[in-house]
Amino acid sequence: MVASGYKHGSQEEEIHARWTQDKSGTIMTGHPVPIVLVSKDHKFELDEEALERILLQDHVKDKHVVIVSVAGAFRKGKSFLLDFFLRYMKAQPSPDWIGTDDAPLDGFSWRGGSERDTTGILLWSEVFLTDLPNGEKVAVLLMDTQGAFDSESTVRECATVFALSTMLSSVQIYNLSQNIQEDDLQHLQLFTEYGRLALADCGQKPFQKLQFLVRDWSFPYEADYGPEGGKKILERRLEVSDRQHPELQSLRRHIKSCFTDISCFLMPHPGLNVATNPRFNGRLGEIENEFKKYLQILVPGLLAPGNLVIKEISGQKVKAKELVQYFKSYIEIYEGDELPEPKSMLVATAEANNLSAVAEAKEMYSQLMESVCGGSKPYLSTAHLDAEHLRDLEDVYAQFKSHNESKNIFKAARTPAVYFAIVAT
Ligand code: GDP
Ligand code: MG
Repeated sequence: MVASGYKHGSQEEEIHARWTQDKSGTIMTGHPVPIVLVSKDHKFELDEEALERILLQDHVKDKHVVIVSVAGAFRKGKSFLLDFFLRYMKAQPSPDWIGTDDAPLDGFSWRGGSERDTTGILLWSEVFLTDLPNGEKVAVLLMDTQGAFDSESTVRECATVFALSTMLSSVQIYNLSQNIQEDDLQHLQLFTEYGRLALADCGQKPFQKLQFLVRDWSFPYEADYGPEGGKKILERRLEVSDRQHPELQSLRRHIKSCFTDISCFLMPHPGLNVATNPRFNGRLGEIENEFKKYLQILVPGLLAPGNLVIKEISGQKVKAKELVQYFKSYIEIYEGDELPEPKSMLVATAEANNLSAVAEAKEMYSQLMESVCGGSKPYLSTAHLDAEHLRDLEDVYAQFKSHNESKNIFKAARTPAVYFAIVAT
């Protein structure tokens, strides 16, 4: 088994080993690195240095990146699952990646009890270099997210963490407990709306792969565990029909319009030791066979070389070194004044909608005026210029007025209690 994911004796392994030595010189086998954190005053902060240490390593920086993120409510086994992703990546290309019965599971911190860790985004310090079937070497990064919906401010934080991780990953795994419920879809809509607004409209779907992952699925007689059963459930949940309330239809259309590829996987329950025993340390021997069987399908389905999805932004493949800038600008969106503190999610989203419409309008106005009196155009009389200005403004205004009407959230929100039901555009 190749423990580090690098060829033994290679320069990459040496660099990797040097980098993972801590101050005392002990070799560590990788660790979770908090990259995005929420400060006490609810501001998002990026640890740029830590991020650069991961992404700007010589053997990593020029590779295209694959970023697999796991997001969703806390205490639902996200970190636990990621530790199996780590096992798989470290063991590549061995088929025996899942390990021995007595080895405890370690990696991202997962634990029993109901107290949550701090909100934020973590990356695994090791970047796994993998050869795609076409021979290209890509850098695979694993991303964990943390957050909880326990007050109004944390709702915003949670939405932001989800939005950021969706914007930054090529595969977003939406980890859910037991089923895909209507409110899971509503949350997803809110999260993706936050992310979508932050990205310039480039005329294509803003995000790549969305994988619903239903944990503790307990109706195998209704839909089988695994991807086929998942497909059946997902089709049922995302189906749009005339019989639905228009809001439910638009919610479904919105979700479909955000991702290039949407799939679903149904996982069986891992057994009572995993779910309830406080002394459980992740030993494979104590996990239900059925769960392990489906892990052997789920994990390679996401991480085998032929299934990796290279991160693209506006249709362009992204390299590790470029990702640093994306982290910076995406964080800025959420720490800056553009998305003000919400009085409620509803108002915040309305404000964000308006701001994005204003920005879009300004840009379109500039473009139109550029074609009238830009640098390469000859002199225009002031009267002529004024006339063009008014005409362009009117044109743009008419378009944005109707566009804006189409996303009037106050028309669509049914009751304050379901303020997640923000209408899609
Ligand atoms: P996270 O907050 O979503 O990252 O959750 P953790 O990975 O820290 O796991 C929380 C608890 O759920 C731990 O006690 C795990 O042993 C347990 N757990 C992990 N996977 C599953 C699962 O598929 N089903 C159930 N019921 N519990 C799980
Ligand atoms: Mg966790």
